[in-house]
Amino acid sequence: MSAPVADPQAATRPTPSSVDVVVVGAGLSGMYLLHKLRGMGLSAVVFEAGTDVGGTWYWNRYPGARVDVESLAYSYSFDPDLEQEFEWQERYPTQPEILKYAQHVADRFDLRKDIVFRTRVVSAHYDEESRAWLVRTEHEDAVHARFLVMATGCLSASKMPEIPGLDAFKGETYHTAHWPHEDVDFTGKRVGVIGTGSSGVQSIPVIAQQAADLMVFQRTPAYSLPARNRALRADEVTAMKQDYPAFRQAQKESGFGVPVPLATKSALEVSDDERNATFEDAWESGSLVNLLTTYVDLVVSREANDTAKDFVHRKIRSIITDPRTASDLCPEYPLGTKRPCLDTGYYETYNRSNVHLVNLQREPLQAVTEKGVRTAVAEYEFDAIVYATGFDAMTGSLTNIDIRGTGGASLKETWSAGPRAYLGIGAAGFPNLFMITGPGSPSVLSNMVVSIEQHVDWVCDVIEHLRQQGFATIEPTQQAQDEWVDHVNLVASYTLYPTANSWYMGANVPGKPRVFMPYAGGVGEYRKKCDEIAAKGYEGFLLSA
Ligand code: FAD
Ligand code: NAP
Repeated sequence: MSAPVADPQAATRPTPSSVDVVVVGAGLSGMYLLHKLRGMGLSAVVFEAGTDVGGTWYWNRYPGARVDVESLAYSYSFDPDLEQEFEWQERYPTQPEILKYAQHVADRFDLRKDIVFRTRVVSAHYDEESRAWLVRTEHEDAVHARFLVMATGCLSASKMPEIPGLDAFKGETYHTAHWPHEDVDFTGKRVGVIGTGSSGVQSIPVIAQQAADLMVFQRTPAYSLPARNRALRADEVTAMKQDYPAFRQAQKESGFGVPVPLATKSALEVSDDERNATFEDAWESGSLVNLLTTYVDLVVSREANDTAKDFVHRKIRSIITDPRTASDLCPEYPLGTKRPCLDTGYYETYNRSNVHLVNLQREPLQAVTEKGVRTAVAEYEFDAIVYATGFDAMTGSLTNIDIRGTGGASLKETWSAGPRAYLGIGAAGFPNLFMITGPGSPSVLSNMVVSIEQHVDWVCDVIEHLRQQGFATIEPTQQAQDEWVDHVNLVASYTLYPTANSWYMGANVPGKPRVFMPYAGGVGEYRKKCDEIAAKGYEGFLLSA
């Protein structure tokens, strides 16, 4: 008799009936949370829809997927031994290397034994009488918890484009954020890629090397800067490992979670030659932030930003041989207002004879058909279509869950005009609910590991505070939340960010309210604010016995 086959859809372990803390998501946020909560002697369970840890780095397995913050900076700082022992290979590692790191962390801290994989949380309802959350999963299990922490990720609810016929296509269909675990081979195939954000920009050069023919469908061009990726040298790794405490401190105090020299000048006060030389150095450095941080006014002044825009346009035109393609790839919105990309050979790819660009602003996408993609001008036939169409960012992974707070109020409905959260961590009317890198915090405007660690530490400190002071619940006051949301909007209004149709603004999701969701005040300033609030006994929060 053959052994019984495990149900490939089933949860990997039983759900406990009651714990101190439920964590949703086992990416870098959920993993660190679990480790920290355990260290505090609390019982916790993590639910994860995937079959292993890593979150972003578990799901996004598309060809060319890489981090665009340097490995030595995009890594946990909470354990000095972990920091010293892990050996990063590349300046900007690939998805498999980062996933290996996440798996190493899971093994090292024995995390998997409290993670229920293959289990999506579908609802979380707060019960005022027992002052506990009742969390239900897709397998109809339920668990009671005093605290609920959403570590569901800002970029984990993937999105298909709103075009008719998505199911009609008879060839292979992929989304970059749900890439198969098996190898995908495009050799000899006609491939269409829809979308030219970071996922498109990273995957297009790699797919182009395999495919017989690659057609890229672009609605809005991205600003992409060369990564200048390379293997890490032993001497630089040693130097960083010796200097880690100071470097980590500098990360925490920086604007984007990446230490850079502070700009002192306006882009408009220097000569063209000086400015171009400065931009050239930044372009050569292979960094996501160096160009945008060269002058104090690039993110606040259109005129200043135009100097950087023109610089990148000249670079694009100098790389791409076909003038019309080059022109189509030049973005008109201000640099940095949609998330910039870091690439390896992106613009050069358009000089290949097997690569073609379709400008959807000239010929809008009409439908996916049995054979391929139809625009207003032509029908293009493919063997495979790759959707690099992004995410319902920052709120999608939260509003996909039926979260109900006091009086049965739904988070989704409460946020129907845009997300409202105090510090991006808690929401009025939702006691003992915390969000890691939620809307209203620097989150996606930063090296996210820095922001994740800050939020996890802060949330765990709150829980410890409640325990020590004998409080049962905490939630933001309506007033503090309103003031914080006003502050987030005010800071955004000083910048150029709201001028672009970005996912930061919810503009990529039809019907989503246009609100600038992350906090643009900078990682260091935000941390100070959070620390001050904690030092004042969690000012702006209502703590109840
Ligand atoms: P995630 O990694 O998104 O993990 C959330 C987890 O929650 C997922 O595994 C998901 O399956 C799970 N989940 C969600 N909802 C449910 C549910 N209802 N039930 C159960 N499980 C659920 N940031 C940077 O700072 N630098 C970079 O270079 C960078 N590169 C990126 C590249 C890509 C392709 C993407 C998509 C994002 C990138 N990011 C980058 C952002 C990245 O998401 C964060 O850096 C970080 O990995 C987020 O970790 P997290 O744990 O908060 O969220
Ligand atoms: P994205 O930046 O939102 O890009 C999606 C692309 O699809 C855009 O070009 C978008 O055009 C296009 N698109 C969406 N809907 C469309 C439609 N209906 N018709 C035509 N085109 C459509 O998503 P992403 O590339 O997956 O990246 C999301 C974020 O994840 C990044 O900004 C970054 O924060 C992170 N990320 C980082 C890296 C990295 O380098 N480390 C890699 C991947 C992702 P519009 O611009 O016109 O909306």
